[in-house]
Amino acid sequence: MSPPGEVKCLYCGGDVPAESADCPHCGAPSHFQQQGENPRRRRRFIIYVILVSLFCLAMIVYLPR
Ligand SMILES: [Zn+2]
Repeated sequence: MSPPGEVKCLYCGGDVPAESADCPHCGAPSHFQQQGENPRRRRRFIIYVILVSLFCLAMIVYLPR
């Protein structure tokens, strides 16, 4: 069992940190295939949606009626 926050590399079987872009042992980006979606990308998407919502709110407040 690997500790939480680490995944097994599909190619060399070594432990890969979840925040690492690719395997430190063989250099393969294998843990993305095991983990599925990249959580960082989802967080960035949520921030983008919040920014767009704030922009829309600002437009509603500042638009002349
Ligand atoms: Zn590897």
